[in-house]
Amino acid sequence: MQNIDTFDFSNKKVIIRVDFNVPLNDKFEITDDTRIRAAIPTIKKVLSSGGAVILMSHLGRPKNGPEHKFSLEHLIPELSKKLGVDVKFANDCIGEEAIEKSKELVAGEVLLLENLRFYKEETKGDEAFAEKLANLADVYMNDAFGTAHRAHASTAIIANYFPINKMFGYIMGNEIENINKVVKEGKKPITAIIGGAKVSGKIEIINNLIDKVDNIIIGGGMMFTFIKALGGDIGNSLVEEDLIETAKAAMEKAEENNVCFHIPTDAVCADKFDNDANTQFCNSHEIPDGWMGLDIGPETGQAFKDIIEASETILWNGPMGVFEMDNFAEGTIEVAHAIADATKKGAFSLIGGGDSVAAINKFKLQNDVSYVSTGGGAMLEFIEGKTLPGVAAIEK
Ligand code: AMP
Repeated sequence: MQNIDTFDFSNKKVIIRVDFNVPLNDKFEITDDTRIRAAIPTIKKVLSSGGAVILMSHLGRPKNGPEHKFSLEHLIPELSKKLGVDVKFANDCIGEEAIEKSKELVAGEVLLLENLRFYKEETKGDEAFAEKLANLADVYMNDAFGTAHRAHASTAIIANYFPINKMFGYIMGNEIENINKVVKEGKKPITAIIGGAKVSGKIEIINNLIDKVDNIIIGGGMMFTFIKALGGDIGNSLVEEDLIETAKAAMEKAEENNVCFHIPTDAVCADKFDNDANTQFCNSHEIPDGWMGLDIGPETGQAFKDIIEASETILWNGPMGVFEMDNFAEGTIEVAHAIADATKKGAFSLIGGGDSVAAINKFKLQNDVSYVSTGGGAMLEFIEGKTLPGVAAIEK
């Protein structure tokens, strides 16, 4: 494995897997540029060390081949501005155009390839596709932590074609270092705050965190599956009926392990899923029919704040409510501020997952926490102790 700080990039073409999966509005403008900003130091390092850069990424979830709304072309103006270089573009990530444009690329130049996921081969981890990408460059660098938990062609398989010249970019290196500050060096009490819409996709992580942390705080839409599992009335709130037993088992496991499982006691309820809905505070276990919980209530906010501020290590993934709507953002704002306050007092705080990152940026607290991870799923899997294919491919 090579190191970005010591490698000689002179006249080398470096293909970098970045995570430019950024949100775009209907005018194709970037609404949150966190991921692009994060990748700039890695790209600039290669350019300033005499290399040429070929960037590859996915964007969105195209279903069947190219779709204009998922074209990486939309990112060119912003990327060029941030790099101070006129970024070139190949309309296809493999094929003649990509080959020609890569060949012509000289030191200091940047070529962005079209969305990798316009090919099904990308997510299938197809070897022939990975080889075509590999043939464009002399060096492979992975700086896409967000997809490091996937064995895709560009995140893992491609590394097979670079037995020596492969390395992590700065994001990957930083992510691994900072997550280890929770997993390996986390000072107690450790608190994991898990929110967001659904239990599915997060239950495994919750189960795995049970023997690593002291407190698990549950918020967001997923809290209602837990509350229903406890026999509460949840009105019209979001629920995953098929996961009620699983939620019950997680709470029992937490009790056996002496882990405090904190379920909200009150909620902000609305009569429809709308910022202008009628609202009332309810006991979260007694939500009337026709009403739905869209945020944690003030009593819960205070209780969560106290737990967070007494923690030495904090991990946050997922909002406490529908924070995109101002009337249901208060719980997420309170939690974000409590994390910032704890950090000020010396705690280590790690924020990860698309929506927590969007929330922390929205509240302008990104500089008041210890580390904002760019990879939600990858971060959580790494915390679980799983081997990430994107990390293993570089390290082997
Ligand atoms: P996830 O991607 O699973 O982390 O979910 C994030 C989404 O969950 C955000 O868009 C929130 O608006 C949504 N969310 C949070 N709390 C609730 C809730 N109580 N009911 C419905 N959706 C929610």
